[in-house]
Amino acid sequence: MTPALGCIADDVTGASDLAALLARSGARVSLRFGVPDAGEAGRSPDEIEVIALKIRTVPVAEAVAQARAALDWLRAAGAQRFFWKYCSTFDSTPQGNIGPVAEALMADLGVLATIYAPSFPENGRTVWMGNLFVGRQPLAESPMRDHPLTPMRDSDLTRLLAPQVRGRVGLVDGLTVARGPKAIRASFDAAVADGVAHVVTDAVDDAGLDAIAAAFADLPLLTGGSALARPLPALLRVAGMLPPATGAAALALPAGPALVLSGSCSAMTRRQVAAMIDAGAPALRLDPLALARDGIGAARDWLAAQPPDAPVLVYATAEPESVRAAQDRLGREVAGALVEGAMAQLAQDARARGVTRLVVAGGETSGAVVAALGVRRLVIGPEIAPGVPWTRAQDAAGPFGLALKSGNFGEPAFFAQALAMASAA
Ligand code: ADP
Repeated sequence: MTPALGCIADDVTGASDLAALLARSGARVSLRFGVPDAGEAGRSPDEIEVIALKIRTVPVAEAVAQARAALDWLRAAGAQRFFWKYCSTFDSTPQGNIGPVAEALMADLGVLATIYAPSFPENGRTVWMGNLFVGRQPLAESPMRDHPLTPMRDSDLTRLLAPQVRGRVGLVDGLTVARGPKAIRASFDAAVADGVAHVVTDAVDDAGLDAIAAAFADLPLLTGGSALARPLPALLRVAGMLPPATGAAALALPAGPALVLSGSCSAMTRRQVAAMIDAGAPALRLDPLALARDGIGAARDWLAAQPPDAPVLVYATAEPESVRAAQDRLGREVAGALVEGAMAQLAQDARARGVTRLVVAGGETSGAVVAALGVRRLVIGPEIAPGVPWTRAQDAAGPFGLALKSGNFGEPAFFAQALAMASAA
């Protein structure tokens, strides 16, 4: 099998989100962590391949090198169309890495121009006249203003992108997008003829994203949030590059003992953890200060003592004051690393004692768990919530169900919904 589309994502839960939206089309989507070994190119790539990197905030040169290696692997596997996926809030620093990676991929593919469309209307992220909104707030007035790693202090994507790239930046505005694919393409072509290489593209709804995807169906490289990728499989089918849908939603998920690991402190995850505790699940809170003092022995003992038949919750999820207190005492990185290390160890323990359904909340937390279990590839199944799929994973102990949830995704009842779906499968 030759993948019709090769995608590169800048973080783990972002990749899972992208893979979920692509799988809605019924295409078979696989998600790989890190650049696969060269030899893996021959081993049954799927219809759509997503490579999850962790390059959102690493130095530019490292991000570019990893993205180029991922592109090389996807091209060797036979992909001809490519997608560079970043966050729908355009998470980046003044240096990058959204622009530099796009520019490097453009150079390697020999393309002169591409588009930037981070809109994710289903999750409240829209772009109008180049300005990104999070719900009703401009990006720079949203909570992203105070993000610890990528504080977003400007809402204008053309201004954010310009210092990240060498080429000129332009805009296809929303009034043009509303006029449909032909008008969009004409506006893009005119900008490119004028010397523009990086074209921010407005979209306030899925219809706009559909029109943008149709306008650029023949471009080798598109960049954006996961929502722009959603219409791509249907367009690739029309182009004869992808076979008819085979039904990704039919993926069989293992039944059996379940564990929820939550290392996200995002507002929505806090509600989800509270809901699972209120519903009476056995729950253990991990406190970074206690982990620093006493280690993780007590948590491992607690998990080992839980009956296998009820879903169990282990969470470090806490209110901002409590997170700040731990960070003040331990340092931000040490506090995070202690929690991530504990989650990784508990995931290993859980797999060793037969847990076959694992739900992880938090991007960094998910990265730590996946790495600890040695999972290299996920096959994408049905969505629990927009952007959060059940997946089938494989580690040394065999196959298991894995769901990776980024902080703010899902409804308050997300964990119960996830577990109900997997046990019904
Ligand atoms: P999200 O997707 O919500 O951003 P992440 O897992 O990416 O979640 O990031 C949360 C970070 O906060 C992780 O590094 C995690 O280890 C850390 N963390 C979790 N709980 C606490 C806590 N109680 N105190 C300090 N840091 C914490």
